Amino acid sequence: MNRKTIFSLVIAISVIALAACSTAASTSTSSPTTNPISPTTVSNTTSNVTAPITANNTTTNADPNLACSGGKTSATVTPALTEGPYYKAGSPELANLLQTGMPGTKLVITGYVYDTNCQPVAKAWLDFWQADDSGNYDNSGYTLRGHQYTDANGRFELTTVVPGLYPGRTEHIHFKVQAPNRQILTSQLFFPGVVQNDSDGIYNANLLLSIQKNSDSWQGQYNFVVPAS
Ligand code: FE
Repeated sequence: MNRKTIFSLVIAISVIALAACSTAASTSTSSPTTNPISPTTVSNTTSNVTAPITANNTTTNADPNLACSGGKTSATVTPALTEGPYYKAGSPELANLLQTGMPGTKLVITGYVYDTNCQPVAKAWLDFWQADDSGNYDNSGYTLRGHQYTDANGRFELTTVVPGLYPGRTEHIHFKVQAPNRQILTSQLFFPGVVQNDSDGIYNANLLLSIQKNSDSWQGQYNFVVPAS
């Protein structure tokens, strides 16, 4: 082979090599963008970041059936029920109604006060009163009676005992709730799974607490909805 032939061969080999590299390069650059793992990873990363933020901004472990939970933007006003004969005005400002040695099962109820547009109501007044573990009301003092106000996020927390039954009624906790400068809503909360619910003429299933029973106490949840205006 003369020089010209050798040169031509070198050129030809170089062109073939370049073409091969180009194909390989184009395969390697296109591979990540078409690889299904990549978008999945991005998607998972996004949801992993979003989930805790959402949980922290709303009710942690909230029952999706609660009014205004799960991203709902409207709700009907909490049903009103009779005040009953045992309300006493002037209860102490207390979020924890437990007293030392008080018999019964500890109950902690958490939730929010919303308006009908599911906007939280700050500084809403909540007044609770109830029977003790034996089904008796304190009508001479203020045991198991107390009022509190929602915080800036519309949240409240009540610590008390599971009320006992008394003749003619199922288990219930009385409450009054009032958004600042609005009308007072009077009603009662109920407990799921109580046999007497079905025979109680006042009972309303829309006022059922969401209850989780732990070994040493019960955790309850309820979101109140008050008129927007
Ligand atoms: Fe009662």
